[in-house]
Amino acid sequence: MPDDGVPESRPTPGPLRVAVVGAGPAGIYTAEALSRQSDVPVAVDLLDRLPTPFGLVRHGIAPDHAKMRAIRDTLHRALDAPSVRFVGNVEVGRDLTLAELRTHVDAVVYTYGAALDRRLGIDGEELPGSVAATDLVAWYCGHPDADRARIESALAGARKAIVVGVGNVALDVARVLLRTADELEPTDMPQHVLDAFAAAPVEEVTVLGRRGPAQATFTTQELRELDTLAGATVLVDPADLALDPRSEEVAAADRNVSRNLAVLRGWADHVPEPGRGRLRLRFFTRPVRLLGTDRVTAVEVERTAVDAEGRAVGTGEVEVLPADLVVRSVGYRGTPLPGLPVDGRTGTVAHEAGRVLRDGVVSSGEYAAGWIKRGPTGVVGTNKHDARETVASLLADAAEGRLVPRGEADDLVRTLVDRGAQPVLLEDWRAIDAAEVALGATRGRARTTLHERESLLAAVRAAAAAAR
Ligand code: NAP
Repeated sequence: MPDDGVPESRPTPGPLRVAVVGAGPAGIYTAEALSRQSDVPVAVDLLDRLPTPFGLVRHGIAPDHAKMRAIRDTLHRALDAPSVRFVGNVEVGRDLTLAELRTHVDAVVYTYGAALDRRLGIDGEELPGSVAATDLVAWYCGHPDADRARIESALAGARKAIVVGVGNVALDVARVLLRTADELEPTDMPQHVLDAFAAAPVEEVTVLGRRGPAQATFTTQELRELDTLAGATVLVDPADLALDPRSEEVAAADRNVSRNLAVLRGWADHVPEPGRGRLRLRFFTRPVRLLGTDRVTAVEVERTAVDAEGRAVGTGEVEVLPADLVVRSVGYRGTPLPGLPVDGRTGTVAHEAGRVLRDGVVSSGEYAAGWIKRGPTGVVGTNKHDARETVASLLADAAEGRLVPRGEADDLVRTLVDRGAQPVLLEDWRAIDAAEVALGATRGRARTTLHERESLLAAVRAAAAAAR
């Protein structure tokens, strides 16, 4: 018996059986790479705890980025492959243990991403009116687990927002908060989200970067887009754009940085316009604490400088910025799956070219790809290359007899159904898809996201009943 307590058994004939845990872009690209790169037949079960595939492509890419969201169509081709079976609404650790899952397959690939927010670790962070970007984004994308009450009460009456962080998520959030009702109307946001935004129009968003514009992680395309908002003007303090010699070097070496600076400099003469919203980008500013009693009313911030190692250091110069909504957008972190250790500091699984390490040793038959492997960085397409590396390791191990099949080739879906789980398969997802398109059509939109687990499952049941 191996160390993890899963019984070994003799190899079974048939295809190479792989379970991929998480049907976001990393999982889908892994499934696709398994089909494409393997010389032997493969059978992939692509599991997700939600009844829907696509992970952050569905619940992360901003709904006003319709073109980017269209990557779903490309990802769908992998789901349609005969060697891939989508098995949604199944949570490893709830519906079956990891050890049980492993009895069904020759290998498992963890691709479940990094779902939680990182914290600021400052006073007042928990006040009502202070929310994580991960939670706000989940809510406006219609994630079934979104904390509606917290987000909707934070938004109610909010006029001045502060977004902490200068990554692409921060820009997404700032942009969406300042979009007009007319701009949001054609998106696939659930109706209650559109209603909440329309009822509480945010007038001013200040985005805080704790370092300078040369150290910001947003990309130029996303930055440039801020200046296309129908109802808001982008404002930048020209003093923030004066670079020290080190930042000059960074700008000279990095095209993204030099382009960002050119865009920011183009906005340096913008002034607030009466009757229009304001999107202020402030650099060299870090939050010290959130102020307020029943809810956040302001943020105490400190002016910073960037030291020789590129770190933000406080200058002692503090200021209080009024805000009735604070969104911290300082990155995502991965969490352990029951039975799978994750490094608490990095929020990632230890690995060697995608092979999972347990106590520093390669664990036979376990792999990782995507954010749980490399951390929350890169764009959707980054996962393609990442998945290929992991799949190459897996297939090499299979070819060289390093995978140890753990049990009978029992059908995973049958086992799940016997246990009372309600797996959602590809045809069920198609029913959900059709229901969302139909719901959108009632208001002249291409789609409206179904945001409740129960409505998603009801769409599946309705389609099954109609087919009988
Ligand atoms: P990110 O790019 O890592 O940005 C995190 C931001 O938080 C950085 O500005 C960071 O500043 C700041 N930060 C971290 N800790 C902080 C603290 N304690 N106080 C103040 N600021 C702090 O992460 P992200 O925006 O969450 O995006 C995640 C990934 O998804 C990225 O690769 C991103 O490009 C990608 N994404 C892409 C798109 C798109 O292509 N349109 C859209 C959304 C997301 P420091 O640099 O100083 O640490």
